[in-house]
Order: sequence, then structure tokens, then C-alpha cells
Amino acid sequence: MNLDALLAAAVHAGASDIHLKLGRPPLIRLDGAVTPLEGPELTEEDLDSCLRALTAVAPQRYERRAVVELADIPGGYGWVFPKAEHANVGVGAWQSAGPQLREHLARLCAAHGLEPDSLTELRGHRLPLRRPGTPVAGERALLVGDAAGLIDPVSGDGMYECFVSSRLAAAAILDLLAGRTATLAPYAAALDAELGSLHRASWQLKQALDRWPRASWRLARSALVWRTVERLLLGDLASPREQHGLARAPLRALALLGR
Ligand SMILES: Cc1cc2nc3c(=O)[nH]c(=O)nc-3n(C[C@H](O)[C@H](O)[C@H](O)COP(=O)(O)OP(=O)(O)OC[C@H]3O[C@@H](n4cnc5c(N)ncnc54)[C@H](O)[C@@H]3O)c2cc1C
Repeated sequence: MNLDALLAAAVHAGASDIHLKLGRPPLIRLDGAVTPLEGPELTEEDLDSCLRALTAVAPQRYERRAVVELADIPGGYGWVFPKAEHANVGVGAWQSAGPQLREHLARLCAAHGLEPDSLTELRGHRLPLRRPGTPVAGERALLVGDAAGLIDPVSGDGMYECFVSSRLAAAAILDLLAGRTATLAPYAAALDAELGSLHRASWQLKQALDRWPRASWRLARSALVWRTVERLLLGDLASPREQHGLARAPLRALALLGR
């Protein structure tokens, strides 16, 4: 059964309501009286397809918009990201908040008018985080991406770090194979040169947000900090430490809160 066609028929007839019940044709309310529409009785599949159509996310709703819900889930955030054919809805938090994640997800769904039961491919993963100084390379072995724990501790992103570390790992392996280096150890220094500063700043921000959420959040959402975030996302800055001038003041304050 096509819900759009049913709605069109009801509107055409001037109905105020539609009533759908298993084993009966669709009913419409006309001037207060309920009357059946002409057609076959509704099957379970008919009702199922109507429910799916009603709870599906309209593509226009999240088109060109990524929603990030901050300051709601301790140690994490909720998101709704648009994809070509669907929306990606999720929540992340401290590992200790794992048992409450389903409740957070249900609240996020409710806030966005989504039916939790309509979510498909629901799954959870632990994000591996590396503390600065944890080894990532030995003489003949190295770790990249999530295996090296390169996830950003604030945003939880790891794709960029995965690509950067893979590029540096390939260069280190080629150097070793060509005899230009004796071990893979230079990979660790190269990784630190490209990602270390950004990750140290992220750890400081994470610690600041975890310990002093209100003060840190107030600073983090100031226009000066957002300018730095913008420049980081655009690739103009490799790390917040490269920011100069007045914009450094709130960054310094956040670094102090994160010590
Ligand atoms: C829910 C969630 C949302 C995320 N959202 C974002 C985001 O929006 N942006 C972002 O940048 N990052 C995001 N990340 C993080 C990002 O997905 C990872 O950091 C990134 O995929 C890491 O890439 P990787 O290649 O290191 O590891 P993986 O993508 O985990 O790849 C490792 C591969 O190795 C395979 N494998 C494992 N063991 C073996 C074995 N013994 N033999 C052969 N193959 C094996 C695995 O099957 C897997 O395919 C998210 C992560 C999660 C969990």
C-alpha cells in the first residue's frame, strides 16, 4: 500500500483523519463520521510499510547539516550526520558511561523526533585512545590508525590520523627497505612531528572539559576559539599552538584548566 496515495485520496475526499487497522480497509473521518475507503483490507505488510514511511528521516531535514549535541552526555556527545540515503545517529561517551548509552541514544532520538525502534544497523565500538608517549614503532614493526590509538580524544575522529599515519608508515617502510634507515623507529618521530602537537592540545582540552565542564565550555564556544577551530579544520593551522595574537588567550586558559 502506498501511504502517499492514501493521504492524497483522504485529502481529495476532504477527510480530517485516517484510521488504519489490520484486516480492514483504511477508514477516513468526514465531518465527524468514520467511513471506509474503497479498497482491499490492510495486511501486516501494509501497516509495516506505513510505519516505516512515517518514521523515516526526510532527506531534506538534515541535508547539508551535521548536528552535534554537546554538553548533554558526560565525556562525549550525540550526533546526527546526513548520508546519501539515510541519517547516521549516534552517541559517544566515557567508557564508564557504556551502560547508559542506550538511554542517551533514546533521548537523542526523542529530541529529533526519531523512533528508536526504527534505527537499523545499531552497533557500538570502543574508541582506542593513545596516551602521549605510548610506543608506536619498534625496530621492525609499527602501528597505524586505531591500532596505534590515534583517535582524537575530544572529537573521536580517527580517519585523518589513520591516513596521515599510513602515509608516514609507508615512507618509513620504504626507507628501511631501501637501506636509508636501519629501523622503523624514525616513524615515531615523524608521527609526533605531524600529529603530536594537535593531540597534546586535544588531551589538554579533554581534561579541561572533563574537570571543569562549565568554565571550559564557556571558553571553548567563544568566538576567538571557534576562529582557531575553523582554521584547524581548513588546514591553515596544524595545531592550536600555531595560533597567534589575541586568539591565544582563551587557548592558554583552556590549557591551564586541562593541566
Ligand atoms: C561509531 C564510530 C563513529 C566514528 N565516526 C568517525 C567520524 O565521523 N570521523 C572520523 O574521522 N572518524 C570516526 N570514527 C573513527 C574511525 O572510524 C577510525 O578511527 C578509523 O576507521 C580507523 O581506521 P583504521 O584503518 O586504523 O582501523 P579500522 O577502520 O578498524 O580498520 C582495521 C581493519 O582491519 C581488519 N582486521 C582486524 N584484524 C584483522 C586481522 N587479524 N586480519 C585481517 N584484517 C583484520 C578489520 O576488520 C578492519 O577492517 C568513528 C568510529 C566509530 C566507532
